[in-house]
Amino acid sequence: MENKLFIYNTLHRKKELFEPINAPHVGLYVCGPTVYGDAHLGHARPAITFDLLFRYLTHLEYKVRYVRNITDVGHLVNDADEGEDKIAKKARLEQLEPMEIVQYFTDRYHKDMDDLNVRMPSIEPRASGHIIEQMEVIDRLLENNFAYESNGSIYFDVEAYSKKYEYGKLSGRKIEDLIANTRELAGQSEKKNSFDFALWKKAAPEHIMRWPSKWSDGFPGWHLECSAMSQKYLGAEFDIHGGGLDLQFPHHECEIAQSTGAYGKEAVKYWMHNNMITINGQKMGKSLGNFITLGTMFSGENDVLEQAYSPMTVRFFMLQAHYRSPLDFSNDALKAAEKGFKRLMTAIASLDKIQASDSSSVSVQDLKSKSYDALNDDLNTPILIAHLFDGVKMINSLLVGKEKITASDLESLKTLYRSLVFDVLGLKDEGDEEGDNEMLDKVISLLLTTRNEAKKNKDWATADKIRDELTNLGIAVKDTKDGFEWEIIK
Ligand code: ZN
Repeated sequence: MENKLFIYNTLHRKKELFEPINAPHVGLYVCGPTVYGDAHLGHARPAITFDLLFRYLTHLEYKVRYVRNITDVGHLVNDADEGEDKIAKKARLEQLEPMEIVQYFTDRYHKDMDDLNVRMPSIEPRASGHIIEQMEVIDRLLENNFAYESNGSIYFDVEAYSKKYEYGKLSGRKIEDLIANTRELAGQSEKKNSFDFALWKKAAPEHIMRWPSKWSDGFPGWHLECSAMSQKYLGAEFDIHGGGLDLQFPHHECEIAQSTGAYGKEAVKYWMHNNMITINGQKMGKSLGNFITLGTMFSGENDVLEQAYSPMTVRFFMLQAHYRSPLDFSNDALKAAEKGFKRLMTAIASLDKIQASDSSSVSVQDLKSKSYDALNDDLNTPILIAHLFDGVKMINSLLVGKEKITASDLESLKTLYRSLVFDVLGLKDEGDEEGDNEMLDKVISLLLTTRNEAKKNKDWATADKIRDELTNLGIAVKDTKDGFEWEIIK
């Protein structure tokens, strides 16, 4: 395959030609959700961004192993290594087992992702299932003197690490500034420096999520799981690590330090970060009253937006912005996306009605190369979609006979739209499902009316045949005094 894909590597702050370490294999790791509540719009953006990447790499015939984790332990209510575990807190409030919370919200996350046509990753490991692997990373860090024990807890020693490696290279932070801006801890904390972070926390007596270890009964720090699980499934060096821009610091910075400190080399070749979303120009937050879960987005049952927006409208809307740009959700913008998406779907459906000619007055090749150039330019979906809409104009001209196309060009045009829109962008025609049901009602009623007429004419063979064939299709027919009843039984 011709390799022209450039991706923006956050680590080097520039676009780089994508060259996998072990082509055609590609290792992709993306930080997944902490499952203590319903997924919201903020979850949709990384999921869709890296689903697009996963789909495009697969389309380019790479063999992608996509690992997206589930955080089910160690993510504390405040991010500074203090406070209750988010899962445990929810479990306490709901009077449930932590793993009931995890299962419940993981299932709901999967349902939301399925609605958005986000493919499942190749592996979806849970942090709580990899405690031993996390302990192994801690052992290595202790051995290499990049970690220290304090009162049963283990902390990463940022200052010691900085003497050998560069802490802060991803987020642009400088260790000197961190030290200068740090308040004296004056023996109040177990940490040497406030910017050190927990690898293992000794559990307080009331802390329910705990595992025995040689250091203490406790639990792993949040950042550790991603270093341990990416190493386990993708190796000590792998191609792409993705996540939201909000995870760049401290989460990803700490991941780099852990992996480099434990294995002596950089784990990740390309770091990719999607930008954040806003709602009507404001950051989304529970305290701001503009918090929108995906479920309420799709049902319209929220106070922020005027109407329901379908999953494909949301997906299309997100893809109309470049993943590295901020994206603002507003009714006007979503309504425009809804219209645009329908126009695109209508054009694709009408491709089958175009009549081929003996020559072409349009260039499908030109449209194709522009479209792939856009994708190869760091997944520039807004430009790709603009080209696809130019193509919609072309399709409409072909439909009314203003332009001509040969049969083979027409085939290429259909393939181009189907592969880019359905396979790569991951859009799908949501159709009119109620309309489909109505149509089914009419067809079955027609068949059963025909059967009643056959019975009247004593044509038992035809009457039985209709009933038997419907039964084979899973539709049960019951004769009643006034005619018939039917129901779908499978
Ligand atoms: Zn992570």
